[in-house]
Amino acid sequence: MSFEVKAYAAKEKKGSLAPHDIERREVGDNDVHIDITYCGVCHSDIHSVNNDWGNAKYPMVPGHEIIGKVKSVGPNVTNFAVGDLVGVGCMVDSCRTCSSCKQDLEQYCEEGMVGTYNGKDKHLGGHTFGGYSESIVVDQEYVLRVPTNLDEKAIAPLLCAGITTYSPLNHWGVKKGDKVGVIGLGGLGHMGIKFAAAMGAHVVMITTSPSKSADAKRLGADEVLISKNIDEMEQHRGTFDFLLNTVPVGHDVNPYLDLLKLDATMVLVGAIEPLEPMHGGKLILGRKRLAGSLIGGIKETQEMLDFCGEHDIVSDVEMINIDEINEAYKRVQNNDVKYRFVIDMKSL
Ligand code: NAP
Ligand code: ZN
Ligand code: ZN
Repeated sequence: MSFEVKAYAAKEKKGSLAPHDIERREVGDNDVHIDITYCGVCHSDIHSVNNDWGNAKYPMVPGHEIIGKVKSVGPNVTNFAVGDLVGVGCMVDSCRTCSSCKQDLEQYCEEGMVGTYNGKDKHLGGHTFGGYSESIVVDQEYVLRVPTNLDEKAIAPLLCAGITTYSPLNHWGVKKGDKVGVIGLGGLGHMGIKFAAAMGAHVVMITTSPSKSADAKRLGADEVLISKNIDEMEQHRGTFDFLLNTVPVGHDVNPYLDLLKLDATMVLVGAIEPLEPMHGGKLILGRKRLAGSLIGGIKETQEMLDFCGEHDIVSDVEMINIDEINEAYKRVQNNDVKYRFVIDMKSL
């Protein structure tokens, strides 16, 4: 059993998004049916539509920064009630029994997490459809409680950009006084600055765009480092405790590794693709580490949302209507977004 809802989908690789009806499953015993009010636009949505990662399934309804109101719940749902403000991020299920799932690290599920879109739909067959749609049906274990003291539309990006930057800062134990560099001031980067600043770090925005300097400081950066300026990069050599690299494409990591102190770590979250060759000496000389990180588990995502409620942290958003989505994709690709597009789903 299923029902039809309105959505926006890409029908083919690099295709424009256009109206398209999809099926949602009937609300099951453990399910929450959510009327979507806002959905953020992540650079991953664009990578997915363009099939940059080679696993795209069409029609594709992107969107994994979902905010909405609970419309109905199944009989076994105890965590949520009709009318609650809730969120859904990048995953809607996982095996729940593997060692990753048991450690609250469902994003690393050994059987593969079920993506909010482009994942395997075990209920209806085919693949899952994301948040550029009227409503979504999600198992209660993968639904998040959202702080009610924050601006609803600016919460949406926390569900991906927020957790993706909070998790590595948290996991690698960033603390007061650490010198932390955030590389790339886009959707992820602007959240990285806010979290690192809230954790008490000395935050340096490392950017290719001098024009973003004033914004970086307004968002909480103590300093701005222009990565194309070799002299400036040299002045910061060997001084960083931690680097969070959000660059969305394969690139040369060597100049960034030079910035790390002895024993320090750079975490990649952006480039899910081949990097330019890296010199082993950049790690060996200084016992440095290059690591990666994928979103965060459900427990940590809830912790991040609660942290945002306590510290008044939301995303800086530019609101769009759904029919502006193709233009928004172009602007993200042209590095022209301040700093996250969010779709007002009433416009669907
Ligand atoms: P975004 O809004 O487009 O921001 C990326 C920023 O990186 C740009 O604003 C730009 O900042 C910088 N940049 C762009 N091209 C660059 C280049 N060639 N060299 C150096 N810097 C460059 O993207 P986003 O939504 O933040 O996403 C960033 C990446 O993270 C995407 O690839 C996305 O798929 C990925 N992602 C990963 C996860 C995960 O779990 N690991 C989760 C979500 C997203 P400046 O102008 O400041 O240089
Ligand atoms: Zn995302
Ligand atoms: Zn698992």
